[in-house]
Amino acid sequence: MPILLILLTIAALLPTSRFARPDGFTRLDSAVATLVTMAVPVLLTALACRWVARTLARDPAARPRVALRYRWVRRRLPGVTLLAAVGSIVGWGWSDTVAATAVVESGGRWLLAPFAELLMPLPYFLALAVNWVGHHAAERALHATSEAARQTPDDPAEAEFWTLAGYLNFQVRQLALPLGLVVGVTALNQTLARFAPEWMALPAVQLGGLAAAVAAFIGFPRLVPLVLGLEPLPPGPTRDRLHATAARLRVRFTRILLWPTRGLMVNALVLGVIPQARYVVFTDRLLGTLTPAELDAVLGHEAGHVKHGHLWLYLAFLMLSTVFLAALGAAGEQALEARHWRLPADYAWALGVVPLAATGVWLFVVFGWLSRACERQADVFGARAGSCPDPYCLAHDAATPLVERGRGLCRTGATNMMAALDRVGETAGHDRPGRHRPTLRRRAQAWLRAWQHGPMSYRIEFLMHLADDPSLGDRSDRAAFRAKLGLLAALLVGIGALSLIVDWSDIAHSL
Ligand SMILES: [Zn+2]
Ligand SMILES: [Zn+2]
Repeated sequence: MPILLILLTIAALLPTSRFARPDGFTRLDSAVATLVTMAVPVLLTALACRWVARTLARDPAARPRVALRYRWVRRRLPGVTLLAAVGSIVGWGWSDTVAATAVVESGGRWLLAPFAELLMPLPYFLALAVNWVGHHAAERALHATSEAARQTPDDPAEAEFWTLAGYLNFQVRQLALPLGLVVGVTALNQTLARFAPEWMALPAVQLGGLAAAVAAFIGFPRLVPLVLGLEPLPPGPTRDRLHATAARLRVRFTRILLWPTRGLMVNALVLGVIPQARYVVFTDRLLGTLTPAELDAVLGHEAGHVKHGHLWLYLAFLMLSTVFLAALGAAGEQALEARHWRLPADYAWALGVVPLAATGVWLFVVFGWLSRACERQADVFGARAGSCPDPYCLAHDAATPLVERGRGLCRTGATNMMAALDRVGETAGHDRPGRHRPTLRRRAQAWLRAWQHGPMSYRIEFLMHLADDPSLGDRSDRAAFRAKLGLLAALLVGIGALSLIVDWSDIAHSL
């Protein structure tokens, strides 16, 4: 969802994806039609959330049934909201209306006002904000009736649920993290291209822009604690143990931080390519749910991403992909021009939509594959993080020496990683190795949802094999290394081959 949302938001900002209003539609008609269309998912969400809150108030015992239905709502209705927003832009010409209304005069011409492109995806974000109000009521009711919260008093999920303001703040921050940087840069880029096109075309400005983008990518983790409202880990045995494990694995980062979500998320992540701007983040629910050995495994998983250089790899992959796809697009254009084929004026929007759709497919297929290979390596490193020198050990006690730097893998280490994933999956309600064979459709859905990580059940199954045969760890690491190297090499060869056909200055321009 976030990557799809990012791509669609960027698409909405671009002048190439402005669809004309239907024939005979005035700007007012278009605005009213957009309002009505957006009201539908908002109303559906409000009704569903009100039903959750009311049913639970009347009959708290109905919680399991209500929770199951609410999960369905939480999964499906955001897609409907997104669809309504896309429909308003494509069907009712919403961006066309904005482009015709929010204009300023500059040098005798009427131009779209600075940053007015931000109004184009605005209906979606407004609808989202209204939906959050409903979700807050539903989630608070679910939280108040939750059994697990009552049984484990020191569980952070038991803490008071968010107030409405706190909940909205939490959701906005979570969205601002992936969207803020790209949307801000795109809007700035568009505004400058509109008001200072000659200046933007200078090679020095373009190179400077590229350097600034890389610097932003490297430096932005510094802003993350502020954006997400992260806190230092509270002092205590958990913090001491995590720091000791990090020292044993020789992984360097600025800090381990706590993400207070009031029990809404069970997650850990690592951000930042350089140690000076690198954070490992654990949510409150994860810290409260996992055993110390499982937390070590999760920290080991995040350390694995660092140790194997995955963040650098993603950066290199994304940059090479950008160049490759741009060259591919230029080559395609040349081929069409050579055949004197021109896009009819009515379909000019395809110039914006096709490359964007191609980027989406490329990310989903190729980046998805790369990301899953990296997740597997990280899982193996998570197993190494809690391993002793004996591969076929039966169990560990407090006196068992653990290997340094993650250079070893034993059964207990693999079992701990498996247990950690299982517990995370169970708490977050992911799919798990089922009692009955999942249908093809369910399997496809699980893969679609987990395209970056792979479904939990597959990861757990792999770790079972790893616990059976710890030597599988080295073999799978070597295979992942070869795959990553092969992918980067293939991209470089592809770029080299395309550069024989296309003009580089053309490509630099399109970037
Ligand atoms: Zn990971
Ligand atoms: Zn062991």
